[in-house]
Amino acid sequence: MSKGKLFVISGASGVGKGTVLKAVMEKRKDLAFSVSATTRPPRPSEEEGVHYYFISEEQFEEMIRRDEFIEYDRHAKASYGTPLGQMEDKLTRGHVILDIEPKGAAIVHGKRPEAILIFIMPPSMEELERRLRGRGDTSEEQIAIRMERAKWEMDQRGWYDYVVVNDQLDVCVDEILNIIAREAD
Ligand code: 5GP
Repeated sequence: MSKGKLFVISGASGVGKGTVLKAVMEKRKDLAFSVSATTRPPRPSEEEGVHYYFISEEQFEEMIRRDEFIEYDRHAKASYGTPLGQMEDKLTRGHVILDIEPKGAAIVHGKRPEAILIFIMPPSMEELERRLRGRGDTSEEQIAIRMERAKWEMDQRGWYDYVVVNDQLDVCVDEILNIIAREAD
């Protein structure tokens, strides 16, 4: 039996989701992050089992074969998936938040209609590109791929329950905390 609510957060790479989520989770200790599996290499700041499970393509294929993902997708030249068992387990203990892109969010929405979907927007596409470049850990090729994908992602925001702009970090964090309080408390 699920005890907690399921939140799904999406937003283009570079929009600042990681920073927003960290601040939100510091304020809401009853919210657990669902750790995805990915085949992309870790960034210097990322930890195994905290930000992602970093696995090989073969391991990823094996997880698909064993039907271990609630959803998975291939984008930006890598595979990403949400392990179902871990998500269910965390939901028995409290609220859970998934950070996944719109294709995965649509699948979760189909399988779990009660999930609450939040889309984070950048103030502008120029600002998104500036943030991506400023991170200093993403190649020019990946920046181009991610900007192209960001345009498509922005078009998906219409079917999300909530759309929040990450212009000022503290305002964005407060808005998400308000949404969680409204939906979960
Ligand atoms: P990044 O490589 O910048 O960490 O993530 C790239 C994109 O993959 C982001 O939009 C992020 O939300 C998405 N993503 C991360 N984990 C998953 C997952 O398990 N499933 C899906 N569908 N997307 C994911």
